[in-house]
Amino acid sequence: MSLKVLSVASEAVPLVKTGGLADVAGALPAALASHGVEVTTLLPGYPAVLAAMGMAIRRQRPAYVWDSLLGAPARLLTGTLDGAQPLLVLDAPSLYARDGAPYTDGAGRDWADNWRRFAALGRAAADIAGGAFSKRGKPQGFDVLHAHDWQAAMAAAYVRYAPFSQQRVASVVTIHNMAFQGWHGPEIFGQLGLPAAAWALDGVEYHGGVGMLKAGMSSADAVTTVSPTYAREIRSAHFGMGLEGLIVARGNAVHGILNGIDAHVWNPATDREIAQRYSHRTLDKRRHNKRALEVEFGLDEDDGPLFIAVTRLTWQKGMDVLPEVLDHLVGLGGRLVLLGAGDAAIERELLKGASRHPGRVAVRMGYDEGLSHRMQAGGDAILIPSRFEPCGLTQLYGLAYGCIPVVARTGGLADTVIDANPAALAADCATGVQFDGVHYDAVAAAITRTMQLYAQPAVWSQMQKNAMRADFSWKASGKAYAQLYAELTA
Ligand code: ADP
Repeated sequence: MSLKVLSVASEAVPLVKTGGLADVAGALPAALASHGVEVTTLLPGYPAVLAAMGMAIRRQRPAYVWDSLLGAPARLLTGTLDGAQPLLVLDAPSLYARDGAPYTDGAGRDWADNWRRFAALGRAAADIAGGAFSKRGKPQGFDVLHAHDWQAAMAAAYVRYAPFSQQRVASVVTIHNMAFQGWHGPEIFGQLGLPAAAWALDGVEYHGGVGMLKAGMSSADAVTTVSPTYAREIRSAHFGMGLEGLIVARGNAVHGILNGIDAHVWNPATDREIAQRYSHRTLDKRRHNKRALEVEFGLDEDDGPLFIAVTRLTWQKGMDVLPEVLDHLVGLGGRLVLLGAGDAAIERELLKGASRHPGRVAVRMGYDEGLSHRMQAGGDAILIPSRFEPCGLTQLYGLAYGCIPVVARTGGLADTVIDANPAALAADCATGVQFDGVHYDAVAAAITRTMQLYAQPAVWSQMQKNAMRADFSWKASGKAYAQLYAELTA
């Protein structure tokens, strides 16, 4: 009999995405299917999710109804994530039926009731995993509840402190980014529907309030994060951001499992978003994509290196350093195209930089999935100067597309990119450039080194081939999650 896992997240492709979490939550079900694990995904019923499910849902008989889910009427609808994988949608209009983004209003401010919106998601997940609904007379409980990030982490606390039934449900919490912890004031505790015992140092209490990620981390049977290096890094104060003590205390219950990439979505040989498809055997064809990108961004046409960046514009991503290094990059004959959105001050500096270097630097503010594919297919190198990076996906897409990653040596970036040092070049296994520290000198030196490698066409194309042949599919990571689930339910 296959293992049944309920994966609960606040976003999942192809229905709703603000970052890498959605890519991972969307890819897990297919990644685990070949390991005998049946993953059902639970998502909040945002307008976009309900719209994607179509008109039929209006007539659907709910799989379960809550008169009051932390005060909100809610019902459970069923569908598919991408036409195949089973999906459950928590339809609670007072919580989720709003214009704006999943976590913020139209002006970019966090919704004031995010604690209720996501505690309700956790409560619903715990109920469902515990067997809240039946199909053809059979309760549909789950063996494992897998919660992603603070928005889902309360699920593990509910399973521990206020389970729906006596049925044993193993719980896993995955940290996709320790910087987002979901802390809320103590006044919400009374509304969470948890017993007083949950207000404890090893429970939900955190710095005098409720720490939702912390609650999940201390309650789950296993805690995972998305790369081995980040799993080590978060044992220190700098990366643990207050939760390092808990990570250390959880000891062997903490695992680092790298994210994979969805090869159906990110494969230059089949990608419908790009001008010219190619593989590592037909690297020459990439130049059509480079020309198309130059035209799309209004850049000068030339054969010099074209850097790209596709990113949230935040301090984490080191994007405050990028405007400073533009002059250096352009001075050496490089060009840069950037796609991003985020911090207004960083946006301003980048726009200023672009206007200083017409034809050499172009930026596009906003979120554009198709363009992100065209950039990976046409760029020569992708710059990722993150100060911390739990796993990172854009370097994996860069590797798959032969767009050489130039990365800070941290977290998943350190685990997935092989620096073109003399040993790696001699062994023909280099796939990118790594540097230490995120500041002007380090990033500028990495750009210089990348340019020097680019100026040696044989070396560069070998690196591209190595990169494209590296396997960061879900094969190994799917197996690692399947093993973890099996251990927890043995
Ligand atoms: P994070 O989740 O911290 O933002 P990741 O590298 O793990 O970083 O994942 C980011 C994901 O979001 C990738 O799929 C990347 O291509 C995508 N992305 C980021 N910014 C943009 C943007 N402005 N337009 C399109 N896609 C973007």
